[in-house]
Amino acid sequence: MPARYDLHSHSTCSDGSLTPAVLVDRARRCGVTHLALTDHDTTAGLRAAAEAARGSELTVIAGVEISSCWEDQTVHILGLGIDPASPVLNAGLERQRRTRCDRSRRILANLDRRGIHISRFCAGPEGGLVTRTHIARALVEAGYARSLKSAFATWLKPGRPGHTPAAWPALTEAVRWIRHARGQAVLAHPLRYRMNQRSLERLVLSFQRAGGRGIEVVSGSSNGEQIQRCASLAARFQLLGSVGSDFHGPDQPWLRLGCCDPLPGSVEPVWGDGLL
Ligand code: AMP
Ligand code: MN
Ligand code: MN
Ligand code: MN
Repeated sequence: MPARYDLHSHSTCSDGSLTPAVLVDRARRCGVTHLALTDHDTTAGLRAAAEAARGSELTVIAGVEISSCWEDQTVHILGLGIDPASPVLNAGLERQRRTRCDRSRRILANLDRRGIHISRFCAGPEGGLVTRTHIARALVEAGYARSLKSAFATWLKPGRPGHTPAAWPALTEAVRWIRHARGQAVLAHPLRYRMNQRSLERLVLSFQRAGGRGIEVVSGSSNGEQIQRCASLAARFQLLGSVGSDFHGPDQPWLRLGCCDPLPGSVEPVWGDGLL
């Protein structure tokens, strides 16, 4: 079977809609041979994912997606091939969960003041990690929005009543936690940040100087031109390339598990040289 990598996915342990076991099963049926589970700020699903893959042809790579801050922007850093037992990483992720809990309380209070009462609809997953996706789902369930997309656009985006910034750690800090856990730090979906090309290049340089190893050259929603832009960034800053769908569940059909374009031949893969 040819190797097929998908190194960015979510489960019910963060804001995905499939449990780790169901996600792994679906990945296997989609022909994925190497799947990284990269839930937001938690490694809680990794054990169940590894158990579900045991005895099959699919390899689960331990991952995480950490929210961080660079020059007032939220930037997502993937940790791939991490040791989930790392004390430094775990202390960092514990702090992330407290930050998330605090932010969700503030978002709900801000919405409450506007007459939007959704607290009773809003339960995060077991283990307590809350994302804005959970709040968006609650807005849909309570009838304040028709879809997740419109819930974000109407209530949660910058400039909207529920927009409440979170105190994420610096990008350098997120990279440090990943390196302590012997993982490879990869800049997630580089073209999704709201910044011009010059700022993006400064971001990638800061990331590389902090010890980042790769960037996501192919992500679920990228087209050929975007892949080439990311491939140039990787070449220019001597970074490895990664491929990941950012799959959250079958309810977001535009991001399909394991269906990314291949990494351009000019880019060194982050899974080469036994790094993962
Ligand atoms: P958080 O990390 O809690 O701020 O939540 C970020 C998550 O919200 C992302 O990982 C996406 O899964 C989701 N998200 C952000 N913007 C949108 C959008 N416009 N439509 C649907 N989901 C979104
Ligand atoms: Mn998400
Ligand atoms: Mn992300
Ligand atoms: Mn993601």
